[in-house]
Amino acid sequence: MTTTPHRPLPSPGHRPGAAWDARAARFAGWWAQALELVLPVTCAVCGEPGKALCRSCRIVLRRATAHPGSLVPPPPLAAAGVRVWTAGEYEHELASCLLAFKNGGRTDLAPVLSAVLAPVLTAAARDVRKEPGGATAPVHWVPVPTSARARRRRWFDPVASILGGTALPRNTRVTPAVSHRRVRGRGTGSQKARGGAQRERALRGTMRATGVRGTVCVVVDDVLTTGATAAEAVRALRAAGACVPAVVTLAGVRVPRSPQENA
Ligand SMILES: [Zn+2]
Repeated sequence: MTTTPHRPLPSPGHRPGAAWDARAARFAGWWAQALELVLPVTCAVCGEPGKALCRSCRIVLRRATAHPGSLVPPPPLAAAGVRVWTAGEYEHELASCLLAFKNGGRTDLAPVLSAVLAPVLTAAARDVRKEPGGATAPVHWVPVPTSARARRRRWFDPVASILGGTALPRNTRVTPAVSHRRVRGRGTGSQKARGGAQRERALRGTMRATGVRGTVCVVVDDVLTTGATAAEAVRALRAAGACVPAVVTLAGVRVPRSPQENA
């Protein structure tokens, strides 16, 4: 898989990367703490006052995400031949935390989500290392970029921000190598209203990657539904010469359970 030599990656330059987003989320966290002085903080799941996530909800979330697993890849990713690793199903505490973080301005949940992501990265890195020639290659975690419109609305990039605060496995690094590019006549809005195949067609060619030739990259997303967005990031990375064996997501839909877990 990784017979090509690895070149050092260029710095992301002017493009705001994971570190910038982690700083933005941290700043928002301080701001949230300042607001706590006047407005009490409540648990993002059950509403209990006191913490961003109360003790009971934290325990339930930890149990639900303790065993990261592989997910049957949705059609666009199955077609691309990539494996999918996820922390848990997109439901209950995990879904509440992600929604509150992304859309509810609850940036104080970033450390919680970073802790959820860490074991999936470890599982995915172990998986990638098993590939022929993949034992020693550095693994680059590439966040799916947020659209310009979403960034204007939230002023931070959720995936890059969570990744920026995550303890990374050895010999791996965060590389924000994929960005959106303007494609004439194709808006990236109202994606939710589209079906999987339609969405995949609409997204094709909307991302580009730079500086990854000869590297091993794993795409990281927060929620995986149709898989079209992650598939476009995989396409862009491969077009730029990267080897992309897997995708990691914080939450996925329809995670098949192993017989042991069902027991
Ligand atoms: Zn709670």
